[in-house]
Amino acid sequence: MKIHAIQTGTVAIKKNQLIGKGAGARRLVNVLFGREWVQPPVPIYAWVIEHEEGVIVVDTGETARTSEVGYFPRWHPYYNLAVRFQVKPEQEIGAQLKQMGIYSKDVTKVILTHMHTDHAGRLHDFPDSAIHVNMPEYKRTHGFRGQIDGYLSHRFPNWFSPQPIEFDGGAFGAFDKSWNVTAKGDVKVVPTPGHTPAHVSVIVTSEDVHYFLAGDTSYTEENLLRKIPDGVSPNPNQAVDTMQHILSFAKQRLTIYLPSHDPNSELRLKNKATLSFSE
Ligand SMILES: [Zn+2]
Repeated sequence: MKIHAIQTGTVAIKKNQLIGKGAGARRLVNVLFGREWVQPPVPIYAWVIEHEEGVIVVDTGETARTSEVGYFPRWHPYYNLAVRFQVKPEQEIGAQLKQMGIYSKDVTKVILTHMHTDHAGRLHDFPDSAIHVNMPEYKRTHGFRGQIDGYLSHRFPNWFSPQPIEFDGGAFGAFDKSWNVTAKGDVKVVPTPGHTPAHVSVIVTSEDVHYFLAGDTSYTEENLLRKIPDGVSPNPNQAVDTMQHILSFAKQRLTIYLPSHDPNSELRLKNKATLSFSE
């Protein structure tokens, strides 16, 4: 089994999104009108697991179409004020997989940590795969309410018909339920709500190490250790509770923590750098 980090461009965000500031509705206002941008822009990672049961992709990254005028809803304050994507066509996940000799038909399963645009931007590259989503997350993308929450469901491919994630796999470490992605049981999905209410993470076990493909449970490892929720989570307390669970998991087992936007995720994967606790 081999895990690859696929960087699908970068995204510039505000400092108040990286490190949430204020209480309640103020948090989002601080993101929209914050003056400081995170420098440099952060990476957008997706993950590819070359598994004996088939290739598994976790998140699909962002699309180069984000540079087209009108790709985002023009009226949307977040897309107007608080985010700038930089994705070249050759950085899209399908193009990168082809370079690696991996084609759509080789990918048996795609798992989405959540459905924000920078994670669900290239579903189009996986017409032959079973795409698994936590159904409450999918429901949140629907309609005008979904657009207000920043989802771009009108950009999903018209053939898109997600498969559910069923949490029927019992407890796994600090998580009270899980779902087995592989028959072997070495790739599991666990619930990690907070960044979105039905956000999930993927844990890949190889030898004695757990690779925690975290999505947006925190933007960086440092924010996890300091339990800093981002500025866009609808429920920052729930995000902190999830971080607590991840930290408990990582205290029990060797864990490499790989969030989608941490500039050091790729290096930690390469160096097999596990989370360490200074106590
Ligand atoms: Zn997100």
